[in-house]
Amino acid sequence: VFGEWPHQPRLPTLLITTHYDVQPVGDLERWTHPPYAAVLEGNRMWGRGTSDAKGPVQSIISAAESVTRAVGRPLINLKVLFDGEEEVGSPSLPGALEDWRSLIQADAVVTFDGNSAADGRPAINFGGGGLLYVELDVRTGRTDVHSNRGGLVPNALWRLVWALGSLKQPDERITLDGFNETLIPLNEAERRLLESYEWHDDLELASLGFDTFSLAESLETCGMPGGSEAGPMVLSSSLPMGQRCSGLST
Ligand SMILES: [Zn+2]
Repeated sequence: VFGEWPHQPRLPTLLITTHYDVQPVGDLERWTHPPYAAVLEGNRMWGRGTSDAKGPVQSIISAAESVTRAVGRPLINLKVLFDGEEEVGSPSLPGALEDWRSLIQADAVVTFDGNSAADGRPAINFGGGGLLYVELDVRTGRTDVHSNRGGLVPNALWRLVWALGSLKQPDERITLDGFNETLIPLNEAERRLLESYEWHDDLELASLGFDTFSLAESLETCGMPGGSEAGPMVLSSSLPMGQRCSGLST
């Protein structure tokens, strides 16, 4: 979904982008509030996807409306691009960006899809590193085979495990060919900026539900089905700013 304020050639243009779709609901039994309805509790409304990212979408629309009412004219050229397929990898977005190349021209882009700090402070993250998704599919035979034949035929899941084991060491060091050559070390200014940022290990760990950080560049496996329920296995790699941040402050 694309929208823009009336164009004023002398003003700078800001493009705001986020998404309004949500993750699949999963097991309905585990929901405290029904996932397909909004529920009012006291003065708080609960609804799926409100923080990620229907709330930010609404806040942009409401802010634009308020400024129009208060000032009567745009302070900048504002464009918005809201994706309805973000949670499935935005399959239509690359084509839309190509088709709308001139329409989406802007001096700056802001995306409302980040996290707050664990102590509740709002945060603006710079330098998002992007994400590469890869699916590995291993097939060692033409049919599913009973486990009593395990000693006779090669096992596809073991081969996947060995392939994954070649990508990362137990100390979290990534051994994928060429990966480490792509990393850009922090410069002095970035280091000072991060050191001045009040990061609370205990709060961040509690909010993540972990006892310790692994503090490494990110190359993750996100699911490994096998045998008769085999579907795709997903391997992702990214270097979000948050991880560089936690690496420095601990
Ligand atoms: Zn999101």
